[in-house]
Amino acid sequence: MEKIVSLCKRRGFVFPSSEIYGGLAGFYDWGHYGVALKNNLKKSWWNKFVDARRDMFGLDSALILNPKVWEFSGHVAGFSDPLEDGKQFNVMFKTSVGAGEEATPAYLRPETAQGIFVNFKNVVDSFHPKLPFGVAQIGKAFRNEIAPRDFIFRQREFEQMEIEYFVRGKEWEKYFEYWRGEMLGWIKEVGIDQKKVQELEVPEKDRAHYSKRTIDFEFDYPFGRKELFGLAYRTDFDLKNHRLEYLDEETKEKIVPHVIEPSLGVDRVVLALLLSAYSEDVKNKEVRVYLKLKPQIAPVIACVSPLLKNKPELVKYAEKIFSELKREYGRVEFDDNGNIGKRYRRQDEIGTPYCVTVDFDTLTDGTVTVRDRDSGKQKRIKVSGLIQYLGEKIE
Ligand code: ATP
Repeated sequence: MEKIVSLCKRRGFVFPSSEIYGGLAGFYDWGHYGVALKNNLKKSWWNKFVDARRDMFGLDSALILNPKVWEFSGHVAGFSDPLEDGKQFNVMFKTSVGAGEEATPAYLRPETAQGIFVNFKNVVDSFHPKLPFGVAQIGKAFRNEIAPRDFIFRQREFEQMEIEYFVRGKEWEKYFEYWRGEMLGWIKEVGIDQKKVQELEVPEKDRAHYSKRTIDFEFDYPFGRKELFGLAYRTDFDLKNHRLEYLDEETKEKIVPHVIEPSLGVDRVVLALLLSAYSEDVKNKEVRVYLKLKPQIAPVIACVSPLLKNKPELVKYAEKIFSELKREYGRVEFDDNGNIGKRYRRQDEIGTPYCVTVDFDTLTDGTVTVRDRDSGKQKRIKVSGLIQYLGEKIE
C-alpha cells in the first residue's frame, strides 16, 4: 500500500486534499493522471452498460435532493453506523438550503441510487421503456464515515457508478444472475486481477435495510479482504416507498417493478486496478516499477521522444509524430527531459504501454523504435505505419 500511495502522489494520480492546510481526513484530490485513469474507467463502464445497449438510460441527478427523499428511502431512520459507545450515528452529511429563517435542512446524497428512483416516472414518461430496463448514473456520493481509512478505499466523498435495473418481480433471480456475470465481465475487461476477487453472500443480519439478497464482491487489498462492489436485490422497496408504479403493456396492469442493483465505487476500482497492475522487475541491475495497465485504461497510450534533446532535426521529427498521434489518440505525451532511460522509467511508472523514440536512423530510413512497457523490448517500425501498428496493439 505504501508503494502505491507514494507512487500516486509522486506521479500525480492522487493527492491528499487541501494538503497545505494539513489535509482533511477522508478527502482526496485527483491529479492529471488520476483523472485520466478514472475517466477511462468511467468511459469503459458507460460504453458497455449504456451506449452498447438498448435497454439502458443515462441520468445525472442533483447531489442535493428534497430531504423527503431520504425519509421515504429509509436513510434518515436507518443509514447509521455504530459509534464506539454503541450510539448510532447517521452518516449522511447535513447541509442547509436557502438563507436565514427560510433555510431548510438537507443532505448531500449518500448514494446515487435515490436520484434514479425519484426520476423513475420521468424516465418512463420520456422514453416509454419496456420491462426490463435500467437507468445508469455516475456521480459523487458523500458519507460522513466515522473512521475514513486505507487511502481512497474508505472516503467521505467518493464516486459511484450505479445501475438500477427494473424487472418483473417473478424474474428477479434470473436478472440477479445475469448482472453478476456482467459485472464480473467488466472488472476483468478493465484489468482487475480475478484471483483476488471473491464473492461473499451477505447474511440477512448484515444486509442493508432495502435488500433481500446481496453479494459483496470482495478484493484482497493489502489491508484485508474488503468490498469492491455490491450486487443487491432491492425488491420493490424503493419504488413502493416513493409511491411509484408502472403500467405493464403486456397485462394492462399497474405494477411496481423490482430492482437489481449493481453498485460500484469508482475509487475502490481504481485502487484494485493499481494493486493489480503494480509490478516490479530488475532491469540493468536496477529495480524497475511499472503499472501493467491495459492501453484502453492507461492515462497515456504513447510517449514520443527525440533520442537527444539538443539535436533540432530529431526534435522536429519527434514533434511531427507526436502531433499526428495526439490527433489520433489524444492521450499522447511528448517528453525530452533527462536521458532516454529516465523517460522510460517515468512512463513505466504511470503505465504508458508504448514509447516511441526518434533517433538518427529515423532521418535516413523513416523508422522509429517502439518500446513495449512490459517486456522492455524495442522494435523498429515505419513512421508511415505507426498509427496502424499502435491501433492494432490497442485493440
Ligand atoms: P462498506 O461496507 O465498505 O462501508 P457499503 O456496503 O456501505 O460499503 P454500498 O452502500 O453498497 O457500500 O455502496 C456501493 C459501493 O460504493 C461500494 O461497493 C463501494 O465500492 C463504494 N463505497 C461505499 N462507501 C465508500 C467509501 N466510504 N469510500 C469509497 N467508496 C465507497
